[in-house]
Amino acid sequence: MTATALSDPMVPQVHLVQSVTRETPDTFTLTLRPDDGAAPSHFSPGQFSMLWVFGVGELPISISGDSSTEGRLEYTVRSVGPATHALVKRQVGDAIGVRGPLGVGWPLSAARGHDVLLVAGGIGLAPLRPVVYEVLRNRDQYGRLVLLYGARSPRDLLYRKELAAWARQRDTQILVTVDYGGMNWRGHVGVVTTLFRYARLQPNRSVAMVCGPEVMMRFVTRELEHQGLAQAAIHLSMERNMKCAVGLCGHCQYGSYFVCKDGPVFPYERIRSSLEKHEL
Ligand SMILES: Cc1cc2nc3c(=O)[nH]c(=O)nc-3n(C[C@H](O)[C@H](O)[C@H](O)COP(=O)(O)OP(=O)(O)OC[C@H]3O[C@@H](n4cnc5c(N)ncnc54)[C@H](O)[C@@H]3O)c2cc1C
Repeated sequence: MTATALSDPMVPQVHLVQSVTRETPDTFTLTLRPDDGAAPSHFSPGQFSMLWVFGVGELPISISGDSSTEGRLEYTVRSVGPATHALVKRQVGDAIGVRGPLGVGWPLSAARGHDVLLVAGGIGLAPLRPVVYEVLRNRDQYGRLVLLYGARSPRDLLYRKELAAWARQRDTQILVTVDYGGMNWRGHVGVVTTLFRYARLQPNRSVAMVCGPEVMMRFVTRELEHQGLAQAAIHLSMERNMKCAVGLCGHCQYGSYFVCKDGPVFPYERIRSSLEKHEL
């Protein structure tokens, strides 16, 4: 790999698949390491990479692993169409092109000294997982950690063993709900906003980070404001189709921003009016 290639954000670096772990029937976590043995670039929780599946296409995927782990990058991918389907079918040793880490991540510096409230819907837990690792690794730098997580059904829950392990940590509350429980589910049933009544929150000292389907984020931001969180304390990760992913092509324009370089994580107060407009 030449220095030019490394510094050019349009040139993918070849990585090899180190492992593929099935999380749910349609979602898999891939671990990648650079082909040339170099350490992958450092990333901030909330950033994403453009993953190039050779012969199929390139797509944005959030980095879902621990930002302190050296030598490998993790991505959790839900198979919804041709590119994600090809990605989750990769085998150990297969090559994938990686551009990034790209974009603006979660406001962890601003969250230090505050309670951290994470609200995730479905695959939206993937870009929030590095925040959980960061807070649990630096426990004394943050207040309480509260995670509200909703999935469609029990079999769609990501990281089940980790959720249980996180719930055993001090000053940590993990609340999980599903839309449809089924016979063997003993947990909560309902949309993610129904969990707020069980959350032990101190709104005036909390920073909220939210990722999920846009309709869910609309309801969650309303609830957060209702709970008393300031708009400036709420941050959302947005999704738009992308091509260049470095702010050149305009494909991911969102109001007056580009999701790829101004986001994907935005302060709610910057995008509030766009979020209210459906289909933008
Ligand atoms: C910054 C960013 C980070 C992302 N991080 C992740 C991640 O960590 N994991 C992940 O799995 N995906 C993530 N995505 C979404 C992912 O990029 C898309 O799912 C992917 O590009 C779809 O490509 P495809 O060719 O497989 O499907 P397409 O052919 O593009 O879509 C197939 C069908 O699925 C629908 N669809 C597309 N995306 C989604 C979606 N996200 N949810 C539900 N339906 C969808 C389409 O509307 C279409 O009907 C992220 C997107 C962005 C912008």
